[in-house]
Amino acid sequence: MKKKNKEKKWHASVKKSVFCMAACLTLAGLAKPWDVHAAVLGEDMKQGNILELQSGDWKEDYVVLNPTETNVGTSGTFVMLNGYYDKIMFDEKGESNAWEGSSAQKYCTEYYRKLPVTVKDRVIGVRTTDTESGSAWLDVSNIDGTKTDKDKVFFLSFKEYDAYRTGANLSSGYKWLLRCPGTDCSEYHDYIGVVDNDGSIHNYSIEHLIAARPGFNLRLPSDICAVKTEKDGVTVWKADADKLGHTYGAPVYEWSKDNRGCTGTIRCEICGESIVEKATVFVTSEKKPTAKENGMDVYTAIFPDERFQTQVKNISIEKLPSKTETKSKKITAGAKYTIAGSVYKVLSPKAKTVSIVKAKNVKSYTISSTVKIQGKTFKVTQIETKAFKDSKIVKVTIGKNVKVLKPKAFAGSKVTKVILKTKNLKKSTIKNCMKSSKVKTIQVKVGTKKENKKILKAYKKFFKKSVLGRSVRLF
Ligand SMILES: [Zn+2]
Repeated sequence: MKKKNKEKKWHASVKKSVFCMAACLTLAGLAKPWDVHAAVLGEDMKQGNILELQSGDWKEDYVVLNPTETNVGTSGTFVMLNGYYDKIMFDEKGESNAWEGSSAQKYCTEYYRKLPVTVKDRVIGVRTTDTESGSAWLDVSNIDGTKTDKDKVFFLSFKEYDAYRTGANLSSGYKWLLRCPGTDCSEYHDYIGVVDNDGSIHNYSIEHLIAARPGFNLRLPSDICAVKTEKDGVTVWKADADKLGHTYGAPVYEWSKDNRGCTGTIRCEICGESIVEKATVFVTSEKKPTAKENGMDVYTAIFPDERFQTQVKNISIEKLPSKTETKSKKITAGAKYTIAGSVYKVLSPKAKTVSIVKAKNVKSYTISSTVKIQGKTFKVTQIETKAFKDSKIVKVTIGKNVKVLKPKAFAGSKVTKVILKTKNLKKSTIKNCMKSSKVKTIQVKVGTKKENKKILKAYKKFFKKSVLGRSVRLF
């Protein structure tokens, strides 16, 4: 009630502003091409954005006042017509501002009736609480013809009325002029019901002539198929009221390089909104590879989202290496291996023994006690005939595992001195080993002094020209 005098003063300036606003809001062409984007209410579509709703030939722009709530805080989207297409007067004759029969009521009713069904069906009625005029509200018609306190549409912006007065361009609603509480209520002659932010209704004095525009609450899906663009610096969402849900195309699948992952994507053909799903991939062996034929693994991608179909991919596995290749890897008797410059021959793969076939070409050569072939340790137990032939070796040290010196082992070589570290030589295993050689001395160098003496004594018994094939000095 206290606002009555203050608001009376607004009259003159309001009238002028209406025409200015109308002129300014001539629709400009779209500044940018459509972006590919979907609108999620509250996240993408925000307060102050424009929602351009279409349905067939019908098209209207609305300012989004609250994307996720109605003006009284319930679920919905609060919108208001963007722009003033008409002057709405409550009482052109200045006698009454009653809702019933007013041009405001007529305008709003017609506006509501012209909404396409797809839009009209989404308009939410908001229950308001009449705190000041009691049951008088129920005497007045709602837009949809009912007589209840659940008003469906068309709140008229009180704040905009204020904005007209001050010349400010405020797009969000504050209080919403609704309608007069009663047609013949003298006490409320100059008053109109105002719906406050919390939904309560108060009676305020207003001018007989005011500009307003329809505002209402829409029930929209939270994820709207809308295409984003910009107009005069304002975000505009273009949506088809008949197809507010997305129109998804066929799913596209992409396998990872190693086939262990598969991603499915479905994309809205209108706004580009994409749903991306990662599948769980299972691998089964359809056919094991053999030496002759390739094998086959089957990769099956299963998606949690039923909009994606299970994907299957067959991957060929190369056939196994041939048997001959496999065999060559096996260590067999007689096989030769070059290790650290010397050539060895396998004597027994089972006993893991080798002989030295050709020694490395160095002046002083030591026969190792063992060598490694494919990671396995083999004892060097024998020296083959002419193992040192055509080399520069003059001195040979014979390792502790050597048991056999083949006939003519030193033939054709420059070896003059041999050192024995082995205790394993026998008369029968050294026959003619020195034949055709230049060896002059053989020195026994095994274990302790006592042991060495013992072995030397034993060797002296058969290290003779008749056995060796050449006379040498043994010491
Ligand atoms: Zn879409």
